[in-house]
Amino acid sequence: MNNITAKQILGTPRSDIWNLPLKEYCVTYDDSICLINTNKHIIFNRYCWDLFEMYPMTPIISSCNVTTILNGGSYNADTHIKMLEACFKHICEYNNINAYSDKEPLLRLVYRIINSIYNEIVNRVSNYVTTIDATDFVNIMKDEEIVAAHGSIRTNPESIDRCYRLLKTSLMNNKSSNRFVQAYKSKAINENQANQCLGPRGFVTDLDRTVFKQPITTGFIKGLTSLYDLMVESRTAAKSLNANDTHIKTSEYISRRLQLLAMPVERVINTDCGSTEYMDIFITKAILENLSGKYYLDEETNTLKHIKGDESHLIDKIIKMRTTLGCRLHNPHEVCTTCLGKVSENFRENSNLGYLMVAYLMEKVTQSILSTKHLTHSVKKSIIKLVGLADKYFYTDDDSNLYFREEIDLKGKYLILPNAKLGKLVDVLNLNHTNIALNKIGELEDIIIRDMKHKTPVSESINIAYNDRLCIITKSLLEYIKSVKLESDARGNFVIPLDNFNKKNPVFNNPLKEANIIAFVNKVARLIEVNKDNTDNPYDKLNALFMHIIDKFKCNISILEVLVYATTTFNSDRQNYKLGRNSLTPYCESKGVIFRHRSMGQLLVFEEQAKEIVSNASVAFSSINRQSHPMDVLFVPNHIVK
Ligand SMILES: [Zn+2]
Repeated sequence: MNNITAKQILGTPRSDIWNLPLKEYCVTYDDSICLINTNKHIIFNRYCWDLFEMYPMTPIISSCNVTTILNGGSYNADTHIKMLEACFKHICEYNNINAYSDKEPLLRLVYRIINSIYNEIVNRVSNYVTTIDATDFVNIMKDEEIVAAHGSIRTNPESIDRCYRLLKTSLMNNKSSNRFVQAYKSKAINENQANQCLGPRGFVTDLDRTVFKQPITTGFIKGLTSLYDLMVESRTAAKSLNANDTHIKTSEYISRRLQLLAMPVERVINTDCGSTEYMDIFITKAILENLSGKYYLDEETNTLKHIKGDESHLIDKIIKMRTTLGCRLHNPHEVCTTCLGKVSENFRENSNLGYLMVAYLMEKVTQSILSTKHLTHSVKKSIIKLVGLADKYFYTDDDSNLYFREEIDLKGKYLILPNAKLGKLVDVLNLNHTNIALNKIGELEDIIIRDMKHKTPVSESINIAYNDRLCIITKSLLEYIKSVKLESDARGNFVIPLDNFNKKNPVFNNPLKEANIIAFVNKVARLIEVNKDNTDNPYDKLNALFMHIIDKFKCNISILEVLVYATTTFNSDRQNYKLGRNSLTPYCESKGVIFRHRSMGQLLVFEEQAKEIVSNASVAFSSINRQSHPMDVLFVPNHIVK
């Protein structure tokens, strides 16, 4: 075995490195670690190590090596990215490169390296490229373990999930040369897609997110042949069209509104404002991984440290974190790099900060909408949990039915169902049978139970929804309604006397649904744009927004800080709607108020300009605290021309 050092490899020109004989080498890295690399690894390393040519004094350490990156796995589409990332980070850390402008030449080189990998390596290895054909699919379906996995499928979510797990283990342990298996192991085939081909298609959902009760038990290789399978699968395409047509529109429009709202936060300044205003934040594992790059006060040493994301010793502790909300720079349109965090090193200093942060956030939001149709297979049975008044009146069973509790006395009690939510109920009551799709009658979130036994009747409004899942009425309740004298109150709501209702029958059902992604997106917008009670404090607002978003996907808190900061105002009681920097009352305001009072540019770019000008001109054009605008003279000449 030949001995060779990492620096010697770097000294060999790229074209010569291909001449290395096919064997193993003992490579000594600059951190004195020796690793066994084959000539293939060395060639790949040499391409990525071009980065070290720009900073030749940087030691080439063993973690900047493709065998460490692969860690026993197969080469796949991410390998070169992870490898370049490892080298890039090491070079930046060793040479103390922080500012984006200093990183830019390295980034340009990364781009060139990826190009040369495509142009040179991909060309040279073309003799080793294989294709996949139908026989690979047919053969893998005949595999004993795969056949056994299919035999065990039952029509419930747990069984489908179990089958997917069996497929995974079977494919990963499969030693055959089947090219489907090879592609699966190297992650050239996405795991979910492989599941849907080899395994069952699983549970699919309707346009209204309801999960069809029967799963599709065959996959795309065997084919969908029954009428039921084809009909329910057709909903997937309909959902996808629907998402592209309406949901993407919604989220992209939200994106534009938020960009306009956040733009006054203009740039990041490479300095430390020295603020001593910290945000206390309780660290959990889920929170920690969304804080990377943030600075916090290490109270033992009284110094600022930045979070890398793997500080397990901070978990279950409260830390004092620097935030954009606490920045003390004089110019409110600027944020210092220490308050914002290390995320500021990843973009040009002259980028508009507010715009950029919205773009980061909304890119992920839109992506999560686009991928909804792929997520359907992951439908899992979940037991619903009632809280508050709902828990006082009802209990649930495994099928998510709601029953009146045994101890509730129904004598003299009335159930009031909102007319607006059960639009089709009257039509249904005229039918002779009750064999209908109950979910089409309407969905309920709030109901009222009125107790008429008291002198002054007591009404309690009960929320029977579970997360974003609403309830429907059951067949037994429908039959009961038909058997009693249905009344309606002054608002047209249905009033049902409960005296004779059999408590053994379910009242409501909460059907299994996939997560409502568009409701999630709308809530993101609402949390930022609307100033609901309790959220006028910027820190409360940031916390609510952060917890809502990281429930669905990863998002660095720095991004959200900027968005929340953009909605703070200096002193809204005194009509000062400038950004709330260095204010004693930096309360958040709603989008409408901010657009009207902060900047004429924002007001005139946003929708319904005519209405704003006609009805709010006196407020909008005369604000003493707003920056002046050329249009002012047209609307309030008395203020401008003296
Ligand atoms: Zn600062």
